[in-house]
Amino acid sequence: LADGIMGKVIAIANQKGGVGKTTTAVNLSACLATDGHRTLLIDLDPQANATSGCEAGIEQPDGSVYEVLVGHAPLAGVICDSEITGLDLVPSHISLAGAEVEMASVLGREKKLSEALEGVREDYEFVIVDCPPSLGLLTVNALSAADSVLIPVQCEYYALEGLSKLLNSVHLVQKYLNPDLEVEGVLLTMYDERLQLSKRVAAEVKSYFEDKVYTTLIKRNVSLASAPSFGKPVILHEPRSTGADNYRRLAEELSSTAEPAMA
Ligand code: ATP
Ligand code: MG
Repeated sequence: LADGIMGKVIAIANQKGGVGKTTTAVNLSACLATDGHRTLLIDLDPQANATSGCEAGIEQPDGSVYEVLVGHAPLAGVICDSEITGLDLVPSHISLAGAEVEMASVLGREKKLSEALEGVREDYEFVIVDCPPSLGLLTVNALSAADSVLIPVQCEYYALEGLSKLLNSVHLVQKYLNPDLEVEGVLLTMYDERLQLSKRVAAEVKSYFEDKVYTTLIKRNVSLASAPSFGKPVILHEPRSTGADNYRRLAEELSSTAEPAMA
């Protein structure tokens, strides 16, 4: 990377479950890497869906992000190569489910991921963090470490419900932990052009977030839903699918609009 430019850390967050966070984290990371941007994907969800979504071709990992957060391993020690050149993975593990309780009395607990990334983020252009569906300590760690947050919004009933809570968390993290945190963009997911509902939600989200909403829409596409069962990002599993095309476009849009992170 050029002098003074650091890998940009982007948290994929929305406390609502099943909105496409993991699908976006895995496939955006894979497409950024394929476009020649060295990318690190960090799975910060105890469900470990991002890990299983790109585990094909990965050797047995030496540990997970859990060991990193509780101070038992350096981040560099648990980075795995993936099947895609230029994409590395920090896997999660179900043990991460206990981390919030274990870390409850640890001083500086909100900054563990941020600290762990020191000395590592220089090796990447993008660091993408997949968050769990909550606003607890794990998501706070991601927001504290991040330059920006990308918010996937599912084109469904109640899409905007709960977003004010997420934005409130972003403001609290800006105030107390990470003043430079920004909203990278809002991504409409599972868009179905045949449904008036999808169009209505898209219009509503755009009137609220204006130019923060990506031009690229992620359509509902069965290849995106089936690729994880093969442990592969969709660009490897079904490179000619609509899903692969949508995430390729998103990677292009994001890498052309993202402000670089400065050291
Ligand atoms: P959680 O909150 O549980 O972590 P999430 O926000 O990470 O969920 P995903 O796991 O990415 O959401 O997606 C939820 C489900 O919807 C998954 O089964 C996924 O395969 C499917 N899915 C996501 N995006 C699409 C899409 N564009 N088209 C079809 N299916 C999709
Ligand atoms: Mg997920």
